[in-house]
Amino acid sequence: MDAHLKNLDLFNPSEEFRMLRSTVRNFTREEVEPQALSSDRKEYFNTELFKHLGGLGLLGITVPETYGGAGLDALAAVIVHEELSASDPGFCLAFLAHALLCANNIAANASEEQKRRYLPKLCSGEWIGAMGLSEPGVGTDVLGMTTTAQKQKDGYVLNGRKMWITNGTVDDKKTPCDVLLLYARDGASSEDRSISTFIIERGFSGFSVGQKITDKLGMRASNTAELCFDNCSVPLQNLVGREGESLTHMMRNLEIERLGLAAMSLGIARRSIEVMVTYANEREAFGKKLTGFGQVQRLIAESYSEYQAARAYVYNTARKIDLHKAGQRLDSDGVKLFASRIGKQIAERAIQVLGGYGYVGAYVVERLWRDAKLLEIGGGTSEAHQKNICADLARISDLSRVL
Ligand SMILES: Cc1cc2nc3c(=O)[nH]c(=O)nc-3n(C[C@H](O)[C@H](O)[C@H](O)COP(=O)(O)OP(=O)(O)OC[C@H]3O[C@@H](n4cnc5c(N)ncnc54)[C@H](O)[C@@H]3O)c2cc1C
Repeated sequence: MDAHLKNLDLFNPSEEFRMLRSTVRNFTREEVEPQALSSDRKEYFNTELFKHLGGLGLLGITVPETYGGAGLDALAAVIVHEELSASDPGFCLAFLAHALLCANNIAANASEEQKRRYLPKLCSGEWIGAMGLSEPGVGTDVLGMTTTAQKQKDGYVLNGRKMWITNGTVDDKKTPCDVLLLYARDGASSEDRSISTFIIERGFSGFSVGQKITDKLGMRASNTAELCFDNCSVPLQNLVGREGESLTHMMRNLEIERLGLAAMSLGIARRSIEVMVTYANEREAFGKKLTGFGQVQRLIAESYSEYQAARAYVYNTARKIDLHKAGQRLDSDGVKLFASRIGKQIAERAIQVLGGYGYVGAYVVERLWRDAKLLEIGGGTSEAHQKNICADLARISDLSRVL
């Protein structure tokens, strides 16, 4: 067992968390790592491996046990994302879309009947889930969404497009995901904020995959798709919560998503440091090890201290986040802003320390660097986090509450 896994601390606060980390770390080393490079190169989403996560109880990590989940909290979710991402951030992104964006959201907001219908199969891995918020013309400006849901006597008719949806398709044949949590403008009032959530199943008429988005810079081990809704019929019972009241669950889910994405950056940073330290300790130039050069020392030392600072911020935030409460945006944006920047920066430094070797796939860090870039865009861009953090701080009358 890794030395630091023996101790209980902020990162492994109880025996249960320590065991969880150890289980995911072993699975990652034995099963995820060996396929990571080829999945990236082939742009292949490894569904078989993904279903193994169900066997380990990870696909419903935050879903209550009654519905087949592990019933754990945000800190447990952070541990799983950090560990998977240290090997294969692309695979981990598919996990995040399923476990946090879809299953966690259904567990938090859906009716008892909906939970019983969808969660057990999502937790076992029999069904693969996704979440559709972004559109071809709308990302950061999410309230500008144009997908509409028109109420009829016995259901809704949906029209529009969703873009960049992780797990939107499960294969190369444009087969849609099994379950999609979808946000649409409902027209219940003329307000921008009147948005509803629907659960869409593969097979609903008018629901199809427009295109599988290929040739991504990174995260190539996850599928990304454009989804189309052409007079898509959705039964009444597939509305989640009350019509027009989805803004709160959308915000709550974005908060937990941002925490998960920040944890992925930690995995990337940790692995990059391992790679660069090991290499610099072995490689010699001008008759001494690379660790003897001040400029290399700076790359390594700054990476280590930034990683530790980000890690403390992410885990401290995870400890405080309540999965069933919105309004924790300040630090969910804060951790993602900071961790995504240092994750990418540290992967880039690792490439530099490895020289030419850092530039090829076998040494891992070029892939981590490409994957790390997405974390400054997906789930909210760095600029969106800066805007939100500034607005949230400006609203606080007594800053000693957060400082
Ligand atoms: C691989 C991948 C997977 C994804 N998975 C999903 C998914 O599963 N589900 C989903 O719904 N979405 C998903 N997304 C979409 C992702 O969340 C969006 O790309 C992201 O929110 C940014 O939106 P956009 O691409 O439309 O960029 P835009 O919002 O158009 O932004 C373009 C640029 O303008 C800047 N900008 C915009 N508004 C402001 C402002 N007010 N102030 C300052 N700068 C601003 C941005 O920061 C950015 O630099 C995914 C994206 C990718 C690439």
